Amino acid sequence: MNDCLFCKIIAGEIPSNKVYEDDLCYAFYDINPLAPTHFLVIPKVHLASAAEVTEETAPVVGHIYAVIAKLAKELGIAEGYRVVTNVGALAGQTVHHLHFHVLSGKELGSFN
Ligand code: AMP
Ligand code: ZN
Repeated sequence: MNDCLFCKIIAGEIPSNKVYEDDLCYAFYDINPLAPTHFLVIPKVHLASAAEVTEETAPVVGHIYAVIAKLAKELGIAEGYRVVTNVGALAGQTVHHLHFHVLSGKELGSFN
């Protein structure tokens, strides 16, 4: 997608603080962290949100969760972290490229 901020980050056209990259996904620290550790994991394929995931594209989501588990161990947050993906303006989605927030390092409180 030409005008997508996160596609530009994947392409290296906009700088980011990279955590991890492979053929399917890219991880980088959030520019406005909401917890001591806050990074985003995004698929390299452009999907606007989790609402666009299909049976065809679902494997990349599973892969992203495996990457998150690996990164959590490497970054020392495996004891507790939260994975969040916002869908749509009502949920607070501001960037329309599927992304998984990974938050840790403070008491996150209950979420219900
Ligand atoms: P959401 O509100 O769920 O769409 O989350 C978008 C996230 O992207 C926010 O937490 C922003 O702080 C983050 N963000 C926006 N621009 C950048 C950027 N250039 N580099 C890193 N994170 C960004
Ligand atoms: Zn994109």
